Amino acid sequence: MSYGSVVSSAAPALREILGREENCECADCTSRSPTYASPTLGVVVCEQCAGIHAMQGMPCRSVQEHWPEEDLTALRAVGNLNAQCYWEYAVPFGEEKPEVSLVCVVNVLSTT
Ligand SMILES: [Zn+2]
Repeated sequence: MSYGSVVSSAAPALREILGREENCECADCTSRSPTYASPTLGVVVCEQCAGIHAMQGMPCRSVQEHWPEEDLTALRAVGNLNAQCYWEYAVPFGEEKPEVSLVCVVNVLSTT
């Protein structure tokens, strides 16, 4: 699925947010065309990373669902770029993000 089709099939209130360049990649693993978002963290993520968030008690929602206005607030205010600046401030410049399979392993290990 192209990201353009993700954006056009999203709930109308989410289209502007998803259309931002910063949100066209998963905030966690950088896979293209993320289809979930976290109303808690204000980031857009892929389905696999959404599952990891759910395992950690922070469920994500599909961008195709209806989102109440209060849940859109974090997405509008944060977005993947601000989240990256906040959560990854200590990551050396140019360091690549792990692929989703490695993200899974790291998260499973950190919760056991
Ligand atoms: Zn991801």
